Formats: sequence, C-alpha cells, structure tokens
Amino acid sequence: MKSKQRSKKFSARATHCLTAGLIALLFALAVSGSAEAQERGEPPSTPLDSGITPAGPPPAPLLEWGAKPKDIPDGYMVIEGDIIVPVGFYELEMPWATNLWPNGVLDYEFDNNVPGYGRFFMRQAMDEWAAVANVTFREFASCGGAGCVHIQDSNVNSSYVGRQNFRQDLNIFNWNYRFIMAHELAHALGFWHEQSRTDRNTYVTINYGNIIAGQEHNFDIAAGSGLYGPYDFDSVMHYTRDAFSRNGMDTITVLPPNEEWQSRIGQLSHLSRMDQLIMSFIYSFPNWRFVDQSYSGVEIGTFQQPFRNFIPGVNATPNGGTVWVQPGVYSASGTYTRPMTWRAPLGGVTLGN
Ligand SMILES: [Zn+2]
Repeated sequence: MKSKQRSKKFSARATHCLTAGLIALLFALAVSGSAEAQERGEPPSTPLDSGITPAGPPPAPLLEWGAKPKDIPDGYMVIEGDIIVPVGFYELEMPWATNLWPNGVLDYEFDNNVPGYGRFFMRQAMDEWAAVANVTFREFASCGGAGCVHIQDSNVNSSYVGRQNFRQDLNIFNWNYRFIMAHELAHALGFWHEQSRTDRNTYVTINYGNIIAGQEHNFDIAAGSGLYGPYDFDSVMHYTRDAFSRNGMDTITVLPPNEEWQSRIGQLSHLSRMDQLIMSFIYSFPNWRFVDQSYSGVEIGTFQQPFRNFIPGVNATPNGGTVWVQPGVYSASGTYTRPMTWRAPLGGVTLGN
C-alpha cells in the first residue's frame, strides 16, 4: 500500500524551474475503471490539510516517452511524468521562464466534466498560492483562447509551464489531493521540477538501474533552468524516492549529510518555505525590490532583473516596501529615513562601506 501511495504521489510532482518554455506536467496516473469510479464517486473524508494522504487508486501505467495520452494535443508530448512540451522540445534551447502571467493574473475556466467538489478543492489549491504570492486566479464561465487555463477532469495530472498563446489544458485526476493540484498550478504559473536543477547531483544520486526502461528521461537535468537557494528536499515539486521505479527500489537516493530526507522527499502536505518564497519572488508584490550582486543585465528591480547594488535598490523602494537582498557584500553607507524592510532570505549579506 505504501509503495502504491508513493507511486501515486510521485505522479504529481514537479520541480520549480521557472521557465519560459511551453511545458506542462503530466503525471501518469491512469487507473482502473472501478478504482476511478470509487475515487471520484464522492469527496474524500480525509481532511485535505492534515498531511495525511488519502487512500487512492492504484498507480497508473507510466506514459511512454513521446506518448500521446488522452488530453495531450497534437504536436506535444509528455516529459518528466507530467510536463507537456512541444515535440522536439529537447532540440530547443531551454529558456528561462518568461511566459509568466502578466501582473500575476491567471484566467481559468472549468470544463463541464469537473464535479462541484473538484471545483471547490481546486479553488482551495489556488488559495495556497494566492496566500503567499501576488497571484490572482480569475474564474470565468468561459475565457476562451490565449491566456486561458482550461481545467478539466482527466486520467492524468498535467499542465504546461507558464502562460501559453492558446487555451491551455490543466488536467487533473486527483481532485482530492490539494497539493497535487497546487503542484500542477505551479507548473501553469511557470515552475519546473526540483530534481532537474543543474546542481542536483550534489544532493541526490539517481539510481538508473531501478528506473523503468525508457523512463530515464524523467530524471534529466534541465540545463537552462533557473535555480534559487539551497536544493529543496521539501519542495512540493520534488519527486518521491521511488518515482518511476521498475522494482520498488529507490530511484533517488539522498546523499549525505541529508539522508534524513530520504523518506520525506515527495511530500504532498504543504508548500515548502522555498516554494512559497520563490513563487512570491516570481510574482512579487508592487512594493518589493530585489538586489543581487551576482546579477548582470538590465536592472529593473525585480527578482529576475534585480539591482546589482544596494543603495539603488533602497532608493527605488516605496515607503513601507521591502528590499530583498541576495547574498553578497554591498556598499550601504548612508542615511536612511524612509520606512521599509530589508530582508536577506538566504542570509550571507554584508552591508558595509
Ligand atoms: Zn510536475
């Protein structure tokens, strides 16, 4: 039972990779008809925020590479279990996520096949993100084309990554798993999977011998993806230890000194601190400014285009605002008279002359 639950949980995981590409997630969670009927027959009795994973249907067969399951449009395929990308994606240069939702406003509609309780729980999942970041989910009876997320009942959990130039499906099977839906919503908002970070081999080992033949691509590193902060074992976007396992043995081994995370990766009970922080940075509040000494490029004060120096960052921050300072040594001598908050989310900040 445990391993079944784990496999199922895994199917919902993705990582936060912010990216511009068109990507979505797809978690292979097909189920037998009877289990499916049972699963969908009525709302779960287990409190969704208890951290307890309700019993669910047996895990679905995983999708094959390049598979075109139900609800995946022509010209697209599934990678990393639940992400939808254009066919030929790996021949494309993976960009940073620039296809974010303007002003953090995501418009969506429900397909007629979504039951009332599913809509209720989906809105709760949306509230998880809206509570920590400047994102607004606007529901329409019908929002139509580009920039409209069409949420539908499916045999998979999947989403594109970021805003698309067409009506984009967000497929949900597990309507009773709030954090599976939060995971898919994070993809729609622009997040990639955690385990595709470029530094992941420092923190985990991928046991390729235990991976289902043909599914190894799910553990690819996203060379062009962004990463921020320490590797986040607690992320709602991280795979479980036995994701895509062919034999029940671990496909991911957490390396020393973090072994205590081995049984905890792939949690589905909450947004991690870094999940919350990064989402709030990508979709930041109007009076926030960012400073990062290591940045080079056009400076506008956002998380992705921060100021390099501290003082310009402070000067650009409205009264009552917050300056988020990334690690570094900054020249900061001066007189500061306006009320604001300075925060060093990762520590490692020295303000000097
Ligand atoms: Zn995912």
